[in-house]
Amino acid sequence: MNLPQSNKPRIVIIGGGFAGMNVAKNLRNIDAQVVLVDKNNFHTFQPLLYQVATAGLEPDSVTYPLRKIFNHFNNFFVRIASAKKIDIENNLLITDKGDIEYDLLVIATGAETNYFGNKKIEHYSMPMKSVREALDLRSLILQNFEEALITNNIEERQKLMNIAIVGGGPTGVELAGALAELKKYILPKDYPDLDFRQMTVHLIEGQDRLLAAMSNEASNKAESFLQEMGVQIWLNTFVEDFDGQIVSTSTKKKLPTKTLIWAAGVKGSPVDGIESDKFGRIPVDETLKVLGSDNLFVVGDLAAIEGNLQPMLASVACQQGEFLAKNLKLHLANKAMKPFVYNDKGTMATIGRNKAVVDLPNFKFQGRLAWYAWMFIHLMLLVGFRNRIIALTNWVWNYINYDSGIRLIIRPFKRKELLKEDVLEEV
Ligand SMILES: Cc1cc2nc3c(=O)[nH]c(=O)nc-3n(C[C@H](O)[C@H](O)[C@H](O)COP(=O)(O)OP(=O)(O)OC[C@H]3O[C@@H](n4cnc5c(N)ncnc54)[C@H](O)[C@@H]3O)c2cc1C
Repeated sequence: MNLPQSNKPRIVIIGGGFAGMNVAKNLRNIDAQVVLVDKNNFHTFQPLLYQVATAGLEPDSVTYPLRKIFNHFNNFFVRIASAKKIDIENNLLITDKGDIEYDLLVIATGAETNYFGNKKIEHYSMPMKSVREALDLRSLILQNFEEALITNNIEERQKLMNIAIVGGGPTGVELAGALAELKKYILPKDYPDLDFRQMTVHLIEGQDRLLAAMSNEASNKAESFLQEMGVQIWLNTFVEDFDGQIVSTSTKKKLPTKTLIWAAGVKGSPVDGIESDKFGRIPVDETLKVLGSDNLFVVGDLAAIEGNLQPMLASVACQQGEFLAKNLKLHLANKAMKPFVYNDKGTMATIGRNKAVVDLPNFKFQGRLAWYAWMFIHLMLLVGFRNRIIALTNWVWNYINYDSGIRLIIRPFKRKELLKEDVLEEV
């Protein structure tokens, strides 16, 4: 691949997500050549994807061009390419656009949706891990309402209007709340001739409480907020099958819907040529170096620190990114690298207007104040001043007008056609 030759060491970073971006930002004045490789030319702020999917924010409010982040950096190169393989013996990264030699390699390719081997659910359900997937979901939901308006078949209309979400973690809870608000405030204005009593949002969770990684107070409050908003919550229930029309569950209850949103699991998204564990994460030591290697490092969702596994969270990825940059400087100076220690500043989830839950290390609160805290933190974390202003303007506008102006089907969603050789039965 075309890159300037240099007598300085070359650090290649794969992935410009929270982890990779923070490694790169903190290598600004390093005496080395830095190359950032990503398959997209933008950084994605995944925590707000659910607002893109529910027509609350435009996709460009939650994304930011990588080149714009780094255009003042010296000896820094961005290459848009998909990493395919790491040739460890020859210190070579193989991409779909050519090979790149490295002295130090940082792998920060994050995570992908985990369907736990169920090909049928993978085919018929909707994931929400990228901007494209969030836009597909937005299109599908709006297309379904357009169809519901046209059909004379009542059962078909019910399936088109019902929405099921699998996974009662923060993503599932936030989506359920946003969809309940769409149903209450927005869709009836767009489709006055549809009876919205026919529409139900269902949230299906395998465990006995929502937000299982948060406190009991947060779980209980999130559950009661969602119930107030009319969301049907199915606890202790696993989705076993979905054929695009009916969801079958472990409790034998069935749910007719054409939209099943899969927010039930993620797994690491490693690059070939390097060993990962059964969750797709790459084992690293406490300095974030791949076990048994000298020049391979992993950060973010993909990193599995031996004996000290961290949750797949943006805050962990950011801290690891910053930390690894310091360790790489030590490594290049032939000094001992330090162990990573996560500083847990708390977790939060929003449910809807004036409704959020916050768990801080010594203090928990819910409701309006938590919602303001959630908005403030998310605004501050968005990359770019313009994105912050646009997101804030949208939120204020939606809050005052009970409306959002971006219910657009720009690129209609079409499910991939099944080929004869596609086997969807359980593996
Ligand atoms: C819907 C959703 C909501 C979330 N909400 C929250 C939240 O509220 N709070 C929170 O703390 N965390 C949240 N998370 C988790 C958080 O987003 C992740 O923990 C974080 O993004 C991990 O950062 P990362 O840099 O490891 O990976 P990512 O941010 O996923 O970045 C990976 C990067 O690698 C690139 N890439 C991947 N494969 C390749 C390849 N083969 N070649 C080249 N480039 C590649 C991708 O394009 C991407 O830019 C959420 C996640 C999702 C999906």
